[in-house]
Amino acid sequence: MQQIDAGHAGAVLEIDLTAVRANWRLLADRLGTTACGAVVKADAYGLGAATVVPALVAEGARNFFTAHLDEALALVPLLPGDASLFVLNGLPAGAEADCAAAGILPVLNSLGQVEAYAGLARRLGRALPAVLQVDSGMSRLGLDRGELERIAENRDHLAGLDLRLVMSHLACAERQDHPMNAAQLARFSAACRQLPAAPASLANSSGIFLGPDFHFNLARPGAALYGLAPVAGAANPMRPTVRLLARIIQTRETRAGDAVGYGARWTAPGPRRVATVAVGYADGYLRSLSGQATAFSGDVPVPLVGTVSMDSTTFDVTDAPEAVAGGFLELIGPRQAPDTVATAAGTIGYEILTALGRRYDRRYLTAPQPERCLP
Ligand SMILES: *Cc1c(COP(=O)(O)O)cnc(C)c1O
Repeated sequence: MQQIDAGHAGAVLEIDLTAVRANWRLLADRLGTTACGAVVKADAYGLGAATVVPALVAEGARNFFTAHLDEALALVPLLPGDASLFVLNGLPAGAEADCAAAGILPVLNSLGQVEAYAGLARRLGRALPAVLQVDSGMSRLGLDRGELERIAENRDHLAGLDLRLVMSHLACAERQDHPMNAAQLARFSAACRQLPAAPASLANSSGIFLGPDFHFNLARPGAALYGLAPVAGAANPMRPTVRLLARIIQTRETRAGDAVGYGARWTAPGPRRVATVAVGYADGYLRSLSGQATAFSGDVPVPLVGTVSMDSTTFDVTDAPEAVAGGFLELIGPRQAPDTVATAAGTIGYEILTALGRRYDRRYLTAPQPERCLP
């Protein structure tokens, strides 16, 4: 990654590792005897896996999930010997030996993947730890009904594998009243009975809040660790973890009728003061936020006006006299959660976090944060 000079950067991204740890702790306490894992795929949802993973290890996490093998390989040196590292997407053909050599556990998602990994185990002459995923209703990854039947009827398919986990994934867990939840729970439980006894895992962040029936032996939270709300329509119990402060690089006074931004999609209704900040859609501040989002100057909300550009965005700061060139506007933060920004953009908080840019001056906070002033 390109080095970012703190003094030159167009924005500061604060990542509160204390809050990430507190969120993991809250989930772990809620899970009781069920182990609490941590999903750190996509660079820990954009926060930075190289920093987030050691913080979670220090808090007690020992089961980490990535999507890709290369994401997992990069984390191996950061983990203690008693930790487990899982690759959710399974393995591309030919990658089995690299996975086994690194001691990483693949999530086997098809009979073909099972056969390839069991074949490697026989060639190596040792049992290989692995995970089986069954499709319980999402139709995305995992053994389908026919493959499950074949393995249930002939367990020789699993010979050579040390089955460490049977898992599945919920499609609608953030909606607690959705009938898919009970249907997937029933189908997953039935699948577990067909397979050799092994620890089981079903719940993502939202699944943890569906109650103990969904907990099984290991939970796989991602989003909630990073502060996203796990239950749709309910108060968010998680602590915010990111704060994006964009530098104001210029301000101007407009007259009535002056156009602002590409496409001249907004025109000033009267004399206004407009601030341009050095963050745009190339930094993950989505273009679909054009005309929809709000930032904060201290406690004063300032509406986004005009179109989000690649490297800059304009806000109406008429009501915020403190917003001057060289100062900062808070684009994401405690007053403006990623979930709120996501709603303005017509997406979900996951996409806001995983899109977070690479041009920011990233500051990792490791002490409890009191309410602070802008930098
Ligand atoms: C991404 C993912 C998770 C984590 O889900 P969150 O909703 O972020 O908690 C868990 N399990 C699987 C299979 C995933 O793909």
